[in-house]
Amino acid sequence: MNFNDLKLKPAILKALSEENYTTPTPIQEQAIPVVLAGRDLFGCAQTGTGKTAAFSLPMLQLLSDQQKPPGKRRPIRSLVLTPTRELAIQIYDNVRAYGRHLDVRGIVIFGGVSQKPQEDALARGADIVIATPGRLIDLMNQGFIDLSHVQILVLDEADRMLDMGFVHDVKRIIAKVPQKRQTLLFSATMPTEITKMVQTILVNPAKVEV
Ligand code: AMP
Repeated sequence: MNFNDLKLKPAILKALSEENYTTPTPIQEQAIPVVLAGRDLFGCAQTGTGKTAAFSLPMLQLLSDQQKPPGKRRPIRSLVLTPTRELAIQIYDNVRAYGRHLDVRGIVIFGGVSQKPQEDALARGADIVIATPGRLIDLMNQGFIDLSHVQILVLDEADRMLDMGFVHDVKRIIAKVPQKRQTLLFSATMPTEITKMVQTILVNPAKVEV
């Protein structure tokens, strides 16, 4: 199988060939068709399996296939939550690389740095926000972020987010995202808390395990 068989659009295929990706990894092969079809997904996968592209590629395609919403400022249509600043930056870099031939804008938000540039970036508008939960909550509480137009929610490394004590933050964030949405949850392990979370926040998910 190659990326052409996954029904990705030429602008994305071009970016992938520029990244020298030739063959999709197993999680990409399984997850991309499910996400493109609009289904919820529960992905059991570790870092290193190519899970970032597994959710980013179809997410970029779904967003770029939609007509740009009217109005000057782009509403946030996709939210990716991840436990650490390093992961947030990695996902952001990947999304930028894969989406470089698309008109889709991403921004990254994490704690431990000045908040002002992130406020400014939000004010300029973005289609995709990649964030760690703590700083996102801070910005939400101060009214800098509107999640009411989110259509795709990604919880990356959900087990680590729970381990790091982000459970309440994650729940509060999910409460601000529309219920009618597509949700993709990735976890390397499957403790009871994750199984419960999958049951409460995903709807009829496809399960992909690698
Ligand atoms: P991840 O598991 O998402 O952290 O990805 C692990 C690494 O594999 C990253 O450096 C990606 O850039 C790279 N990668 C992801 N998918 C592919 C692919 N299909 N072909 C080659 N490299 C890939």
